[in-house]
Amino acid sequence: MITPNIDLHSHSTISDGLLTPSELVSYASEREVQVLALTDHDDIAGLEEARIMAQKLNIIFINGVEISVTWRKRTLHIIGLNFDESNKNLINGLKNIRIGREKRAEGMADSLGMASIFNALEGAKKFTKHGAIGRIHFAHFLVSQGHAKDIKHVFKKFLTPGKPGYVDHEWASLEDAVTWISEAGGDAVIAHPGRYDMGRKLYPSLLADFKDFGGAGIEVMSGSQDPSQSNYFAELAEEYNLFASCGSDFHGPGISHRAIGFVRELPKQCKPIWSKWPNVINDIH
Ligand code: AMP
Ligand code: MN
Ligand code: MN
Ligand code: MN
Repeated sequence: MITPNIDLHSHSTISDGLLTPSELVSYASEREVQVLALTDHDDIAGLEEARIMAQKLNIIFINGVEISVTWRKRTLHIIGLNFDESNKNLINGLKNIRIGREKRAEGMADSLGMASIFNALEGAKKFTKHGAIGRIHFAHFLVSQGHAKDIKHVFKKFLTPGKPGYVDHEWASLEDAVTWISEAGGDAVIAHPGRYDMGRKLYPSLLADFKDFGGAGIEVMSGSQDPSQSNYFAELAEEYNLFASCGSDFHGPGISHRAIGFVRELPKQCKPIWSKWPNVINDIH
């Protein structure tokens, strides 16, 4: 199969990206991306706008979302791809996660208050464009107030476990997230597996649970993890009979590790997730 210029993980202003859904698609088109998924955190409100722009620019658009999940007290991200966006359970599940995000944000502001940083909730909200508030919006607020020199440094001093502004939060269960995606006709994929601080012993348990719940794939290549990890995840994908996915995790020019549409060949033994999708296989040229 020819490897298309495919990016199956990206963010817009609907969550914590800097570009609107249309701007993101135009940006991807200028960089010759052929197949794009928009995967905002816990929100699918950008899909329609992105799809319309993708049609104009002759990009194959894949519905996507990145769902926040708690598994064994750890936060994981599960990508949903190629699902029916009108599915009621998926829509309701995501809505409840966004309500949880609002509550968490109040706790984060209280925690920052204890460190004498006041009015952080109002401040962070000024950086949200659409809705669902997250740590990035607090990060922008903290930089704007001079508490850190840039986004990277904010996360070293704040917003991470043990630091001001961090609060534990119970997201969706792994089983629920995978079920919503699968029942909406989509494929659930473990996002940036190399980012989770869990040691090699736990990965087999995670993959076994994920597979039991109906999970389809794993991001073997991600802009959010070191490329040296891809062989390990390719081996795990093979062992658990999972498809392989890839994506930049692009959040915006200047703030992302990797540019949109960066494509690395998946290791040879991988079965690309898009080999399941007739619309991609038939239309790619
Ligand atoms: P949240 O889902 O609100 O907890 O926010 C998670 C988001 O924060 C991730 O998707 C990244 O966009 C961003 N993030 C987390 N850690 C860092 C970091 N160390 N540097 C930059 N961005 C980060
Ligand atoms: Mn993000
Ligand atoms: Mn993520
Ligand atoms: Mn992401």
